[in-house]
Amino acid sequence: TLGEKEEEMETPIQVVLRVRPMSQAELRRGEKSVLHCSGPKTLQVSPLGGGREVAFHFGVVLDGACTQDEVFQGSGVQHLVELALRGFSCTAFTFGQTGSGKTYTLTGPPPQGEAEPVPPSLTGLMQRSFVCLLDKVQDVGTPITLSASYLEIYNEQVRDLLSQGPHHHLPVRWNKTQGFYVEKLKAVKFGTLEEVMELLLEGLRRRRSSAHALNVVSSRSHALFTIHIQCPVVSPSRSKEQTFGKLCFVDLAGSEKVAVTHSRGELMLEASNINRSLLALGHCISLLLDPRQKKNHIPYRDSKLTRLLADSLGGSGITLMVACVSPSAQCLPETLNTLRYASRAQ
Ligand code: ADP
Ligand code: MG
Repeated sequence: TLGEKEEEMETPIQVVLRVRPMSQAELRRGEKSVLHCSGPKTLQVSPLGGGREVAFHFGVVLDGACTQDEVFQGSGVQHLVELALRGFSCTAFTFGQTGSGKTYTLTGPPPQGEAEPVPPSLTGLMQRSFVCLLDKVQDVGTPITLSASYLEIYNEQVRDLLSQGPHHHLPVRWNKTQGFYVEKLKAVKFGTLEEVMELLLEGLRRRRSSAHALNVVSSRSHALFTIHIQCPVVSPSRSKEQTFGKLCFVDLAGSEKVAVTHSRGELMLEASNINRSLLALGHCISLLLDPRQKKNHIPYRDSKLTRLLADSLGGSGITLMVACVSPSAQCLPETLNTLRYASRAQ
């Protein structure tokens, strides 16, 4: 109901924490886990060598034993699907250092071969949300138009992942009806799970094969997959109207600090731009949560990322943040950064 939605406006950002299991490599190196869940909403951090224990509280805490389906059920992303169908702008993003499980959470493990699909039990929030959305669209009965776009932000430059052409510097513009949007971005209509999955895979392939992926900096770009939902409604005045909902999934760049001392030129620029988007996101979120803050003074324009997420973060939207962390003691400094960033967002 709308009442529910209004209640959520008080806390426009839902925060879920996911701890991935220890990896084979971490276990082989003899690293120890320093995180454990001491309740459904509490994460206990126990530093090695008897350092001071700290507890963090989140809406939902999912530990390393949780399956992909439990993460889907527990994250509340189905609620975003429902709201998007009713015309709201909804975003789910993963946040955390490189290797913490952001991509795994959204799309599952990397494919073993080019043609090898992800096993159904391991698909991520995105594939599961597509299934959920298409089911609900069928139930509604009225003809709903679905389309998808997929873009990457790297060095504050927007690139179309569904387009073959040299679309590497698409401008972000603003107008009264659409808000912020990317000019000339391809949006492809789809009606089935196979079709939307093909779009996701096409973009993932393009993302992996891009020049900067070869330079091992693909973890430094943000990827946004957006489903546009156009739904006819009959208004009380009996005139036909449309709602335009949006469901966006964002695989954020790694939150770790990028070493800039040994890098020059492009790498330097890159480091500062990544900080710009993630810092701007953190800044906008903290202002949105400040009750004294005027909601029309949120600095969305500070980065491409915050412009494109503006309607989900403020306005008539809802945002789900899945913070991802490794349990290993070796990752603790970055894990604490992630936990603090995520704590501040709620
Ligand atoms: P990120 O996108 O944050 O850099 P990834 O999602 O690529 O991290 O995860 C790093 C590695 O850990 C990958 O090999 C991934 O398959 C694995 N992994 C991440 N989360 C899990 C999990 N919950 N269960 C099993 N393996 C995982
Ligand atoms: Mg990743």
